[in-house]
Amino acid sequence: MKTEKNREKITFFIMTGILLMTALISLAFILMKGSESGRTTVIISEGKVIGRYDLDLMEGEKRITVQPEGSRGFNEILISKEGVCITDSDCKGKDCIKTGTISHFGETIACLPNRLIITITSDDEYSGYDARTY
Ligand SMILES: [Zn+2]
Repeated sequence: MKTEKNREKITFFIMTGILLMTALISLAFILMKGSESGRTTVIISEGKVIGRYDLDLMEGEKRITVQPEGSRGFNEILISKEGVCITDSDCKGKDCIKTGTISHFGETIACLPNRLIITITSDDEYSGYDARTY
């Protein structure tokens, strides 16, 4: 009788454990999916949105050279599923290149001398973006 009860207890704990694990794993999956889908990189040059790319829909790599009219400054941007980075720039500090690759929501690369901002956001944000409020 006593061993029977113990066995029930053990079974109960194991079942609870499995249920808890399953719940945690599915929660992790939901969170991961939720936070990493719909990543859109927005490229803003001199206060204007000049490009939007859905990172999750990227195939291969895309290189963009940004050089605003009447400006000598340039930035070379590399976009892929893995993220966005600036591969080359003529700015002084090269901080934008040093920033490396960004791939998560809210991350930003800024090249202040060339007035370039690259950020990762959800699809709907930045539709009415105004650089003056940045
Ligand atoms: Zn720079």
